[in-house]
Amino acid sequence: TAPVLSVRNLQVEFTSRRGTLRAIDGVSFDIAKGEVLGVVGESGAGKSVTGLAVIGLIDPPGRISGGEILLSGLRIDNLPPEEMRQVRGKRIGMIFQDPLTSLNPLYRVGDQIIETIKTHTNLTDQQARKRAIDLLAEVGISAPEKRIDGYPHEFSGGMRQRVVIALALCAEPELIIADEPTTALDVSVQAQIISLIKRLGRDHGTAVMLVTHDMGVIAETCDRVAVMYAGRVAEIGPVQEVIQNPLHPYAKGLMGAIPTLAGEDKRLVQIPGSMPRLSAIPAGCSFNPRCSAAFERCRVDRPEPLRHGTQAVACHLYDRATETAA
Ligand code: SF4
Ligand code: MG
Repeated sequence: TAPVLSVRNLQVEFTSRRGTLRAIDGVSFDIAKGEVLGVVGESGAGKSVTGLAVIGLIDPPGRISGGEILLSGLRIDNLPPEEMRQVRGKRIGMIFQDPLTSLNPLYRVGDQIIETIKTHTNLTDQQARKRAIDLLAEVGISAPEKRIDGYPHEFSGGMRQRVVIALALCAEPELIIADEPTTALDVSVQAQIISLIKRLGRDHGTAVMLVTHDMGVIAETCDRVAVMYAGRVAEIGPVQEVIQNPLHPYAKGLMGAIPTLAGEDKRLVQIPGSMPRLSAIPAGCSFNPRCSAAFERCRVDRPEPLRHGTQAVACHLYDRATETAA
């Protein structure tokens, strides 16, 4: 069966008077039913843009300039806006960092959930209310039959994020995209939201794309992880493999700095230098100016992801051609 999400050689460009910047340059990955894929990287690596591309929310002057996005085998990157809006509401759920982007402060949370349920089902008001209460209970809101009539401001940040997750689940989507869903929350609440997201895959068979800069969150939540750098996937593989045996020099740097959920150190990277700006991506491997293992070929030739056991890595160190030449 087709993966729930298949992103194939995705390219995203932003055009301004000063020229065209490529924010995403050849990103590919799949997410299977019930699987949580973490997408990790520094800010500006292209994680959020990738998520926005999948849900069809890249606004002009940005655009998808190449590649394909398939949802359960059907292309969605070229759908008319109205059709894409339906896909977004029904087949793809979204959870953002700030729950208030998804909740209207003027309406009771229950009414927002009930309205969403009714949009996607033929349930009566009463049935939809019952379903909303069940969903609130499922995401861990106690006394849901009372809380359902509360307004967003009457909920704590963590509780609001639970409401957003309930809202995302209303249409029983195939795919949920969660962009930094725990970043704004207290550490103690983060762990609860993470175990909730993890359960989605298990209990609902939902595929989850979890975008975060926090390797600790990835380690706790994900089945697989894609490490992004400068608009490309540097390495992708099962989360345990990538954490214990990172192959790409950039991933090695990241894994040296995994914070624990309870820990203080939230810095992701302990690699000298910083990620290049989109307007100044180096030729060859975009990581070469920061890479202590860089050699001649890295400055001219762009590495493509190649399979290496259960991982795939875009680095010339793992290319047969390099091995033969050495
Ligand atoms: Fe370093 Fe070269 Fe590998 Fe890029 S391709 S990560 S510069 S060794
Ligand atoms: Mg972001």
